[in-house]
Amino acid sequence: MSPTPLMQQYREIKGRHQNAILFFRMGEFYEMFYDDAETASRVLGLTLTARNNGGAADVPLAGVPVKAAGDYVRRLVQRGFRVAICEQVEDPKSAKGIVRREVVETITPGVAFSDDLLDGARNNFICAIQPGSAKRRGESGAKEAGADFDVGVAAADVSTGEVRLILTTASELDPLLARLSPREILLPVASLVPLPASRSDALVTEREAWEFDEPLGREDLARQYGVLSLDGLGIESTDVLAVGAAGALFRYLRELQPGGLPQLARPLIERPGGIMPLDEMTRRNLELVESLRGGVEGTLLSVLDRTGTPMGARLLRQWLLAPITERAAIDARLDAVATFAGDIVARESMRAAIDDVRDVERLAAKAASGRSTPRELRALGDSLCALPAVAQALHRAASPGGRLSHILAVWDDAAELASQICSALVECPPIAVGDDATIALGVDPDLDALRELRDGGRDAIARIQADERTSTGISSLKVGFNKVFGYYIEVTNANRHLVPPEYQRRQTITSGERYVTAALKEFEEKVLSAAESIATRERELFESLRAAAGREVARLQTISRMIAELDVLSTLAEVAVREGYVRPTMTSDFDLDITAGRHPVVERMMPRDKFIPNDLLLSADARMIILTGPNMAGKSTVLRQIGLIALMAQVGSWIPASAARIGVVDRIFTRVGASDNLVRGQSTFMVEMSETSAILHSATSRSLVLLDEIGRGTATYDGVSIAWAVTEHLHEHVGCKTVFATHYHELTQLSNELSALCNYNVAVREVGDQILFLHRLQPGGADRSYGIEVGRLAGLPAAVIARAREILAVLEAEHLGARSAERETPSGGRATASATDQLALFGGHLNPVVQRLAAIDVNAITPLQALSMLAGLVDLARQA
Ligand code: ATP
Repeated sequence: MSPTPLMQQYREIKGRHQNAILFFRMGEFYEMFYDDAETASRVLGLTLTARNNGGAADVPLAGVPVKAAGDYVRRLVQRGFRVAICEQVEDPKSAKGIVRREVVETITPGVAFSDDLLDGARNNFICAIQPGSAKRRGESGAKEAGADFDVGVAAADVSTGEVRLILTTASELDPLLARLSPREILLPVASLVPLPASRSDALVTEREAWEFDEPLGREDLARQYGVLSLDGLGIESTDVLAVGAAGALFRYLRELQPGGLPQLARPLIERPGGIMPLDEMTRRNLELVESLRGGVEGTLLSVLDRTGTPMGARLLRQWLLAPITERAAIDARLDAVATFAGDIVARESMRAAIDDVRDVERLAAKAASGRSTPRELRALGDSLCALPAVAQALHRAASPGGRLSHILAVWDDAAELASQICSALVECPPIAVGDDATIALGVDPDLDALRELRDGGRDAIARIQADERTSTGISSLKVGFNKVFGYYIEVTNANRHLVPPEYQRRQTITSGERYVTAALKEFEEKVLSAAESIATRERELFESLRAAAGREVARLQTISRMIAELDVLSTLAEVAVREGYVRPTMTSDFDLDITAGRHPVVERMMPRDKFIPNDLLLSADARMIILTGPNMAGKSTVLRQIGLIALMAQVGSWIPASAARIGVVDRIFTRVGASDNLVRGQSTFMVEMSETSAILHSATSRSLVLLDEIGRGTATYDGVSIAWAVTEHLHEHVGCKTVFATHYHELTQLSNELSALCNYNVAVREVGDQILFLHRLQPGGADRSYGIEVGRLAGLPAAVIARAREILAVLEAEHLGARSAERETPSGGRATASATDQLALFGGHLNPVVQRLAAIDVNAITPLQALSMLAGLVDLARQA
């Protein structure tokens, strides 16, 4: 038997939306069939049933009520699924045959508008990535030969309308994706572009390669922004790859939103330079916006984010992930922060004014796409009404030539739109146009007349009740209303004999009878039709107001950016004052000179003034520090604090120190500890080595490299050798500022050979067999790690600690013996690393072949015995 017409229609639509879960509207439910039903029942915990399909095998089915669909969609999309919403697009009553259905919208992790899928404090980007053809690395000045290629990226956040076209290279894709953290990535099918670790959990969507063609992209961009040539958008002929990516992105967005592409602001063009690329490991290790454990707590963002608006919160996050490298631009931000930090009145009035501004950017995008509710449109209006107070605070703060006066010069508070919205809507409008008033009194004479009629009607009904009581003499007579019978007159059983003959009986209830009269019916009609007309008229007025706001979206997006910047700058000032930060002096020199620096996050976890500040100077002739010291002394803290201070300065923030001179750095690299990445199929050591390799390839003399242990994930001497060679390479060939924290005390010897390398350690004091952590940085290397003491502090059993001490004593004695037979280091100097050490370390567990060999007295055996011993050794070796 052939499938039912309904299932035929379903299959046809599903065929066009293969990669989405299809929510197929049937009356008050969205139904899912086949695999979709199975997936949904698994993910959402829905009951799986079956639908008869015209006698053929039953079709698996799962459904959700339309009213509750929002929550189910959210859960699916959060789990990385696409959901296509298929609606009935004609009235079932007037449909001939099967009702027409169409997909009206597809929601994906990267293309979502609903508040429950969005986080106010972060953007929700979707990126299209288009790789170019390979070029040799040598061309771009990199040290090692290897393939690198240009990459064009188009990124959009449809919830805010932000669009960026970015030109980068394959090797810079990791920092770029770490910065944007897109929820979805579009790639040409079978693309060779290796997606870096920072793609994290983004959904990857493959698209046909032709969709990335540049001419199509050009056309699309020109159409979208209504320009004849892309020059007007600041797009140059070299931006080919990004233009192609934009074309693919727009096409995809149109496919998901058949009603029309969402309103997008003019694209921001990003070309290499100006922004410091922060790769995934540095972003993670410095715990900028997400802690190593996950979440915002314990991050730099959590300390700095006192923003008053979601736009500000999103911009601060963007700034932290994209520090800048042009001194003038950094100083411009620092100047603005200084203004707010120095003028408490300007700062507080700005903070207070900004507090009344809501998420104008997303509210404007919602208005433009016709999605805002009356309440949201009013919030937009109220936010705009708060802008004059922001401008007033800005007037006070702005000084000629600075960033703030630039914002003031282009200031726009969309005053007409603000008053239009605020005067048209009631103060607290409902979520949907309906029972409660949306449009204020006095806005529309027609509406007011209808309301009068409705309210007059209500009064009239009260009047009817009074009149009827008088004329019938039934003092308990009541006029009431119910949905089935409309208005009625209710008379109790005791008074039934008084009912006049013109009353028509409608309903009998236990306590009496209900009647209608011709007069009552007439009023009822008037009242009901007035209520209906009010709703229609309100909807009309609201929609045209929303459309008017939507037409201003580009202007509102510009306003949002200004608000976001003022919010961030005044927030940075607020935090600077509250946390006792100072303004760093930015220079174009090499030196990084920090006086009494502190770790912005760790210091907040302890009582005030308990954190021990430390000085640090890295200069051309002392550019590399080997940092040793016991476990728990504070090496990692000081290391990260250096990175955070340099980064904060280049974001435009003041810093936790008493003074600092900072030569602008082009990149910060931070490699910390060992982290497995089994999901990506790499061992701990492999991850460690690839991260180190990335640093050696990309660092320049202007970079700041912070290494916290290298080579710990392998055998001791492999590790030392790698750490040793990496140190030499950074010192000799890269010439960058480096701080290397390590427990390989052997590395301190390198100061004899490398002129710009110095040793520092974090001080501890021994008191009896206890150790006191001083957390103070001091010149010189450490020779002990006090690992056993830290183990004791951590609660290792006493017997284990005692045994560890015995073993340590033996090993140290053997080690000293070995040291007396000094050897040449690979670079010609003298070092403590020797093969004997390794034997000493693993003395108790020598290889049996080696043990047997060591026991042979060559002078005491015959050639025949030698041969048989050799045969025995070969056997033993083969068994091993
Ligand atoms: P390991 O070698 O075991 O990794 P570490 O030397 O790197 O240890 P950290 O992790 O940096 O030690 O610091 C250990 C703890 O010491 C920190 O969690 C912090 O509580 C405290 N600490 C570190 N630096 C300071 C400081 N300057 N002032 C006060 N407390 C500090």
